[in-house]
Amino acid sequence: MSRKLKGTAAAPGIAIAPVVHFHTTLDRIPTYKVGPDAVEGEKQRLSHAIAEVTKSLRALQQELTGQIASNEVRIYDAQLAILHDPTFRRDVENEVGAHGVNLEVALQRVVARYEGVFAAMESATMRERAADVRDIGRQVVGALVATERTKYTANGQDYLFAADEFLPSDAGILDRKHIRGIVTAHGGKYSHGAILARSLGIPCVVGIEDVMLESTSGTMAIVDGDAGQIILEPSEENRQHYERLLGEQHAVEKRLAEVRLQPSVTPDGVHVRLLANVEGVRDLQNLETDAIAGIGLFRTEFAFMERRQFPTENEQVAMYRLAMEGAHGKPVTFRTLDVGGDKPLGYFRMPEERNPVLGWRGIRLCLDWPDILYTQMRAILRASALGHARILLPMVTSRSEVVRCREVLEQLVADLRSTGVEHDPKIELGVMVEVPVLVPVLPDILPIVDFVSVGTNDLVQYLLAVDRDNQRVAKMYDPFHPGVLRVLQQIAQMAGAAGKSASVCGEIAGDHWFTPILVGLGYTELSMAPVFLPRVKLMLRSFRADECRDLALRAVSMQSTAAVRRLVQEEIQVRWARFLGAPAGGVSGGEAKS
Ligand code: PEP
Ligand code: MG
Repeated sequence: MSRKLKGTAAAPGIAIAPVVHFHTTLDRIPTYKVGPDAVEGEKQRLSHAIAEVTKSLRALQQELTGQIASNEVRIYDAQLAILHDPTFRRDVENEVGAHGVNLEVALQRVVARYEGVFAAMESATMRERAADVRDIGRQVVGALVATERTKYTANGQDYLFAADEFLPSDAGILDRKHIRGIVTAHGGKYSHGAILARSLGIPCVVGIEDVMLESTSGTMAIVDGDAGQIILEPSEENRQHYERLLGEQHAVEKRLAEVRLQPSVTPDGVHVRLLANVEGVRDLQNLETDAIAGIGLFRTEFAFMERRQFPTENEQVAMYRLAMEGAHGKPVTFRTLDVGGDKPLGYFRMPEERNPVLGWRGIRLCLDWPDILYTQMRAILRASALGHARILLPMVTSRSEVVRCREVLEQLVADLRSTGVEHDPKIELGVMVEVPVLVPVLPDILPIVDFVSVGTNDLVQYLLAVDRDNQRVAKMYDPFHPGVLRVLQQIAQMAGAAGKSASVCGEIAGDHWFTPILVGLGYTELSMAPVFLPRVKLMLRSFRADECRDLALRAVSMQSTAAVRRLVQEEIQVRWARFLGAPAGGVSGGEAKS
């Protein structure tokens, strides 16, 4: 029977295909429903995982032989005995079959039962076996999850990727030819997985808590990336409805395509530069450079995350050169490595942090490991010889961080000059404004930078103290909060007073409900996922600059987010819908409906 599950709209579009479950995260045990026809597959996964763990236990045993006492090496024999105990295996398989739970859950349940039995035994030696059982369970689950992370395909069939979470590093192992949509149990509209889905142009709904329990691999589903919902086992009526919607969307797309190459200018002649956010060189292949003023944000970390080790300087130069060539002479803003937080680097050991988003990330990490920063800046400088490159620093919190980065840059320029390596000695350096404390100190920082770029994704999360990845508080993550708008106004005013350019490169830059407000606040550079460019351009061409100013002034003076949203609904959405001949709120991209 058809079932509708609500989540958060993360990337626009509609997709119809079977769901396939994947396990993306290593820090949460995957939990999903297993149908009777998938039980055999789970048994095979168990065999593979047991073989994997056996191999690594034997290797460990061998490595330790001679280093520790022989009776201690035998601990591993005890573990191997549990691993190969036929009763243990049968119990796990029965748990899967009888309760329709996935292998990882079944393992955990059986291990908990065994642990309980051992822990209650009188003999101290037997009680200690409880720890061995627990350890074995952990290792087998670890092996299962690690293997699953190596491939996200559905044997050459079209599929909807379903998982607990979609992580930036997952993008590299998707079957790009056949993936039709993404649905996840966790994450928010502004998490990096969602950003990637948008940049890949894959319809995506996140934060559907029960998606893994309500579906099995093979369940047919419709993803509605505009309304933020999925329909499992859709009825014929559902299908017809969505096919009709697809038709309507095509009509809207056609209207949007008409403005593609028109100037991005308000009806009264104010030019706004629209730029693209890219997550890697592959995004450049489909980029219509004629329709953009350049690349406003190249998130270099994604290329680092899809690899198994740090790219060398030469490898980075090659990548940045491709970006410069792809931009056809237009400026490319390379953001230096912004890992940490929700963007771990598999091959770079980061400490466990209680609050990673408030922890060792972005420029803090790079200044602690200057080699990373030197290599990357040098590579960008070398690529800059091809055209107009800019360097953007993420997560800056103080002037002193900028001073240190400037020193590094100047040193590198001097080195390159003295060795005769081509580069742009006047390369521009800018900072992301995404940590709130940077706003009051901007007047001290503006004189030593060439530009600023407002990273509203993080700025909003820190201003509102709402985790951008947490679907439980997703409703509270609202960039239309008047406090956020006032901060955006201050930044634009300070940059303007200092004669420095200020752009917005967070996701609101691509949210067309925001366009008139941002323009009215004084932003004349907006960088966004390319998929949103036509909508933003059409919006821009529909509102005069004085109307934008008026709307922005009214929005910042509101006393509640709801009041701002009402303003957006009445003054922007309704007019846009009339203009486009589409129902209000029926055009994808923004979420100003509530
Ligand atoms: C931002 O924070 O708005 C931003 C553009 O950076 P990221 O989304 O990569 O954190
Ligand atoms: Mg950020």
